[in-house]
Amino acid sequence: MVLHGGGNTSLKSIEKNIFGEEEEILYVKGSGWDLESISVSGFAPVKLEHLKKLAKLPALADPEMVNQLVTHQTRFSAPVPSVEAILHAILPYPYVDHTHADAIVSITNAVNGEVRIREIYGDTMVVIPYVMPGFDLARLCAERFAVEAGPNTIGMVLLNHGIFTFGQNAKESYGRMIEQVQRAEDYLKRNNAWDFTVAPVTASHSIGLAHEQAKLRADVAKAAGFPVIIARHADEKSLSFARRTDVSVIAQQGPATPDHVIRTKRLPMLGRDVSGYVESYRAYFQSLEPQAKERKTMLDAAPRVVLDSELGLCAVGKSAQDAGIVADIYEHTMDIILRATALGGYRALPAKDIFDVEYWDLEQAKLRKGGNPPVFTGEVALVTGAASGIGRACVESLLARGAAVVALDLDAKVTTLKSGANFLGLQCDLTSEEQFRQALVRAVEKFGGLDMLVLNAGIFPGGCRIDSLKTEEWQKVMRINLDANFMLMRECHPFLKLAPRGGRVVVIGSKNVPAPGPGAAAYSASKAALNQLARVAALEWGGDNIRINSLHPNAVFDTGLWTPEVLAARAKHYGMSVAEYKTNNVLKTEVSSRDVAELTAEMCGPLFAKTTGAWLPVDGGNDRVI
Ligand code: ZN
Repeated sequence: MVLHGGGNTSLKSIEKNIFGEEEEILYVKGSGWDLESISVSGFAPVKLEHLKKLAKLPALADPEMVNQLVTHQTRFSAPVPSVEAILHAILPYPYVDHTHADAIVSITNAVNGEVRIREIYGDTMVVIPYVMPGFDLARLCAERFAVEAGPNTIGMVLLNHGIFTFGQNAKESYGRMIEQVQRAEDYLKRNNAWDFTVAPVTASHSIGLAHEQAKLRADVAKAAGFPVIIARHADEKSLSFARRTDVSVIAQQGPATPDHVIRTKRLPMLGRDVSGYVESYRAYFQSLEPQAKERKTMLDAAPRVVLDSELGLCAVGKSAQDAGIVADIYEHTMDIILRATALGGYRALPAKDIFDVEYWDLEQAKLRKGGNPPVFTGEVALVTGAASGIGRACVESLLARGAAVVALDLDAKVTTLKSGANFLGLQCDLTSEEQFRQALVRAVEKFGGLDMLVLNAGIFPGGCRIDSLKTEEWQKVMRINLDANFMLMRECHPFLKLAPRGGRVVVIGSKNVPAPGPGAAAYSASKAALNQLARVAALEWGGDNIRINSLHPNAVFDTGLWTPEVLAARAKHYGMSVAEYKTNNVLKTEVSSRDVAELTAEMCGPLFAKTTGAWLPVDGGNDRVI
């Protein structure tokens, strides 16, 4: 019924103030809070008498309206009240619910929407023509309510926007919301405008199409001015919608309810012509900005929804979470458009009305609620050997900096390492080109591309001197520590080349590169060769704006390899206590997986923006390395 911050609810109660006087208080949803997850602290307590008085003013500018709402709350830590607070205040019912239910906006955005709504609801609903939310809408509702409301009134329908219901208690108001939305759904069903059979479609999931998607992401990020996540949805519904012959008509009318515009922009992009989209967005801004009350600065002109006959629906966001919100909204929008089309035609609001909401400071404030985004927001990192130890710590460090992270490991537990929109864990044998390509395709479909690559996976077989080292053992180490990383670098290169802020690769090497020890010939040789490979890559890929650097950790004991028993045995072997053994370096400090991971993440960040082809020890200082 509502998506991501849309809709609002309120109740009116009587409370005693500090003087012991009774006061009527409106508890209304805080702006930017989501009805799906809201708690008590998400409701703003505002003095009702003051709101009713405000509603009688002939006009009230937005900044002053917000000032009045915020300064007449009874709890200083309360959120900013919804921009609909005054509207909730003037409705003479203790409980009020407001949603943007799909069924309601399907009908009000259809040809003859108002006639249909009156036919469905008779005198139970007051019908309000579209006015932008805020003070003017509250005034209009007060006027229409005074004239149209009768004994049967239980709510109101706002054309092209949504529905309100009221009640004497929360249950009654909510029950009426469900009933009234059900009536709209029944109307759609009666008119064969509810369920649609979709002809089966087949989606391609090739590496070639993943390249296309990454190219699209690069173009969109360039237009936006920041890196973006692009999630591909190639399900039957999205693909068949994108392939409809009338898509250029039905998908170019506008959003189902105005507040979606801040997430989806007014129109989806059809196909992949980003510069064409940018041009038409600029024309939209330039034609409508002069009619705005005050001067506006153009927002970024990048699309948020892309409909493409091969890719399906692509949802664009500043983060994976944002892209998820965009996809949710557009999945509902497609249903709404199809239902309104089945009723005779989808008719969204004129561009001017959508522009006013898109450029309304009170709507934009919702998007700013999050504050400054972390450094890797909108970027994608791939980490190998991610189920444990340094790899797992790298996943944490990159997630903490806002990156979307693809974690690969031979161990299936990688798939459940983390939850959340920013994480994709895939079981993958890196010695199989086919498996890795499939993982890459899935990663790009989910996030849009690849910006950072952390080559961490490797094996360290037990000590064995050259004279007794078996060929198969040598080859196995080379296959995993060297050959697989070569293949990964080659396969990732076309994606890293498209990274909006330049590609970054960090190789987790070893102290054994600068200072090898006896008994680890295959390991030391493989890591040394990998180090040399990274240096060549730095030379070859600099022109593609890809940086590649190596870290050489030593004696990192909080990994799966080092059980307490092994640690104790090794310490005893060197005649040390475990504590001495762990800090056996120049700085006498313990080096943890997290230390290596934090440096790995920093090497992908702006501090190391001018560094490539370097290798850096992270070992507490080793006299042989120094
Ligand atoms: Zn609304």
